[in-house]
Amino acid sequence: SLDMGLLENPLVPRQSENARWLLEQRYYADRYDPETGGLRKERSFEEFARRVSRIVCTAESLYRGADDIEWIRRLEKNLFADLVEGRFIFNSPCLFASGAGMTRVPELAELIYRSPDEMELADYRRLYDNKTDNQQLFACFVIDIPDSIEGIFESVRDAAVISKYGGGVGGNFGHLRERGADIKGGTGGKASGPVSFMETWNTMGCVVVQGGRRRAALMGMLPDDHPDIEQFMDAKTEEGKLSYFNISVCVSDELVSAAREKRSFALRSRANGKVARTVQGDELWNKLCQNAWRRGDPGVFFIDRANADNLLKLSGDFDIESTNPCGEQPLPTYTSCNLGSVNLVKFVRPDETGRRSFDMEGFMDQVYRSIYYLDLVIDATSYPLPRIGERTKRIRPVGLGLMGLADAAILSGDVYGSDSFKSFCDSLGAHMSGAALMATVDAVAHMGKDPFSESFAVAKLFEGEHRVHGGELFARQWIKEMDLNSYREFVAQMRSHGQVPYTLLNTLEVLPEVLGADALPELKRLMTALLEGQLRNSRRLSIAPTGSISMIFDSSAGIEPNFAWRWSRKVMKSDGDGWEVREYFHPLITQKEADELRGSGVISDPRYVTAYDISPEQHVDVTGIFARYVDSGISKTVNLPSSATVDDVRNVYETCYDMGCKGITIYRDGSRDNQPIETKKEG
Ligand code: UDP
Repeated sequence: SLDMGLLENPLVPRQSENARWLLEQRYYADRYDPETGGLRKERSFEEFARRVSRIVCTAESLYRGADDIEWIRRLEKNLFADLVEGRFIFNSPCLFASGAGMTRVPELAELIYRSPDEMELADYRRLYDNKTDNQQLFACFVIDIPDSIEGIFESVRDAAVISKYGGGVGGNFGHLRERGADIKGGTGGKASGPVSFMETWNTMGCVVVQGGRRRAALMGMLPDDHPDIEQFMDAKTEEGKLSYFNISVCVSDELVSAAREKRSFALRSRANGKVARTVQGDELWNKLCQNAWRRGDPGVFFIDRANADNLLKLSGDFDIESTNPCGEQPLPTYTSCNLGSVNLVKFVRPDETGRRSFDMEGFMDQVYRSIYYLDLVIDATSYPLPRIGERTKRIRPVGLGLMGLADAAILSGDVYGSDSFKSFCDSLGAHMSGAALMATVDAVAHMGKDPFSESFAVAKLFEGEHRVHGGELFARQWIKEMDLNSYREFVAQMRSHGQVPYTLLNTLEVLPEVLGADALPELKRLMTALLEGQLRNSRRLSIAPTGSISMIFDSSAGIEPNFAWRWSRKVMKSDGDGWEVREYFHPLITQKEADELRGSGVISDPRYVTAYDISPEQHVDVTGIFARYVDSGISKTVNLPSSATVDDVRNVYETCYDMGCKGITIYRDGSRDNQPIETKKEG
């Protein structure tokens, strides 16, 4: 249950000098200081975590009465403990903007930093009612770009507003008519095409700094059958072009089969819907691979996979056409998502014999709690545009991910990419998705109102199966009589229907093992919720890059292997004026290993593998394993040596496609002039 008791009293773990520096530079807020009557920066991680957990929990007051104050306090204390002990953290915008504006106002600052034991329901409500427009807590947005001058420039304005409030924003430029197509209105003019309008977005990116703290982050997509697709693929080949964009091609199932079977592939005019041109499927696919090989761009987004795995696919209004900038969150247009990550390092614990092992039960509890926290953020945030707020609340997507996978492996004596590591990843994915599913089902009951409002669409996914088809009563009767065998049979039948999202089916398939001995009652509860569409969140899991938040916790990023043991990094200064170079040392390196590094440049311990020690196949396998369970996307780069060929790239893409990944990024060593992180080869 969510009422997990009170987590132990937090002990603040030691933070590295770099983590402290980053927090002070970017994350600690300016607050009213009662001692001086002026403003000062937050001084400690606890003060920062107090603000964030207080603001997120203001949303709980919407669902509770005055009698529930003990519950709200307890929820907040647990969230605070999870943050302070480094087990879980929200995406950066939530950390930056919780309490924005309010921390400077004396009475409100007093409420934000007060001890939870002195908080009453009215105090939480007061903070909720006073939230400012700047309290924008989400990292991911996707908007629409319609095919008209008005529509295009509205999209630029909307992207600018989202960027201003600190969100990353993506859009599909494929509705725009191709270069050279006629413009209506009798002017005789010709359209300049999607790529030219991406320049307009990019120019916006140059001038808007996200939430005043970081560069704008944009994603531009184009469907593979758009007549300007080749131009799009070349849009970033020149260094410095579209520099605020990540670009990805929406690769359809049709293109992959046309490439494999060396068939022709039709490009369709957006002006009149007719076939504009046909190309050879394999030539188009190879061009994509060639460009990615050369520079890493464009990425691939397997859009049919993303829509096949969309719980809302039958609702009509929530199809997916783009992801956010880093690719981990495919979203319907004009919706948004907030992310958070569990730090796996904290779940490697010594057992009675002193041997370190992974605490899977503790991890599942953390996932369960974290889904609930992220759901609260949907109410606690201010939305940059009303339409996004309205649509997001209808579908309530959240994106829980992981960080510290590589470091957790080192700590438990495993080697990233090895067979035992891969089975660990599979087990993590299974337990994570199981716990997240239970959390989202329980949240409906717990919130007491406002269940996931697109629920009918979820329930419809299960229609057609003969036993359920007879109606609700029949389904209830069936669930009542269900045993493990009939449950498994049901899941297998659903798979043959091809309607139910595949990550959900994969999760249902492993649930009996995940739940262990007394699985049946829990399975019955879950099946009831699914058949009635009683889920709180339309999406639950998403593996973000955790580029900044993993530095706060001194953990390896996302599910990536370590990049190096010693490196330097260019970071934006707090005043936004220029960059500073910081030196880093991996936190798990002992003095002995540091000496080894200084001497030979390598560490003899086999656990210390870096991204380039791991074969492309191993990178792909790890991604594919998590793709079985993660219903949104996964941010993962497959590193290739500089000697890799275009065929190697093609192979990576096709294998990822076959494994059910929704996208993937490759990076060939040395293929860009400006590598963001530089490895230190020698001390
Ligand atoms: N993002 C952004 N600007 C940035 C970095 C990230 O808008 O400078 C958004 C983007 O949508 C990305 C998401 O935040 O996909 C998550 O990125 P990451 O996990 O690296 O963010 P963190 O929470 O660590 O700052």
